[in-house]
Amino acid sequence: MRRREFIAVLGGMTAWSVVVRAQQAGMMRIDGLMSTAETDPEEAFGDGYRKSSIISRKAIGTCRLTPEEFHTAYPKLRAWIQKTLEFYEENAKAVAAMHFVRLPLYFDASLLETAKFIAIDRLPMPPLSAMGLSRFAVFEQGDFSGITYLNRYFIKQTVVTEEAIHFHELIHVIQWRLLGPEDFLAAYANGLDEFGYENSPLEKMAYDAEAAFRRPSPIFDAEKFVAEQLGRFP
Ligand SMILES: [Zn+2]
Repeated sequence: MRRREFIAVLGGMTAWSVVVRAQQAGMMRIDGLMSTAETDPEEAFGDGYRKSSIISRKAIGTCRLTPEEFHTAYPKLRAWIQKTLEFYEENAKAVAAMHFVRLPLYFDASLLETAKFIAIDRLPMPPLSAMGLSRFAVFEQGDFSGITYLNRYFIKQTVVTEEAIHFHELIHVIQWRLLGPEDFLAAYANGLDEFGYENSPLEKMAYDAEAAFRRPSPIFDAEKFVAEQLGRFP
């Protein structure tokens, strides 16, 4: 089922190269982007987790997306996300409401209560062209399986009962919280640009964790896993 998933890109790669790589891998998932209904996620996430400014500087410095482009688009994207999450908030359900059996073994109960998903037929995509990121125009018309914005994720109705998909998106929720939105976006874009999407560090982290979740392997603390992995970032 992961073969039908696709990963969204907000920077770095050209739309064409992303499409080609997506086709080559036969995957269809978008995630990574943000979550939370908090008015200021950066403040909300400033709860003792360190922000990796090193990652951010490196990402912005090496990304094909210039720092000027990124900083111009970023506030617009944040505003769009905020507006979108507010619009859909009444449809958001706590992950805990799904009563998945295994997720509580990997995630804190508080996360499963505060992280919410919106089951939907068509995912809301940011108008990247209007934000000056016309190279990503193809994604605005895309049909994807899931996308995470801060601590909210949209998931296609067709996969809403798939526990491993929720697991994967929750890894991104943690990434967003630990890095902060701006650093996450910059690191995600840079990783895609440098390694291709399936090997971009933030995505690889999520897929590695998901793979461990799917197979009979020891239970682990997902948040500690993400924190340790982020600590190894160059
Ligand atoms: Zn992902």
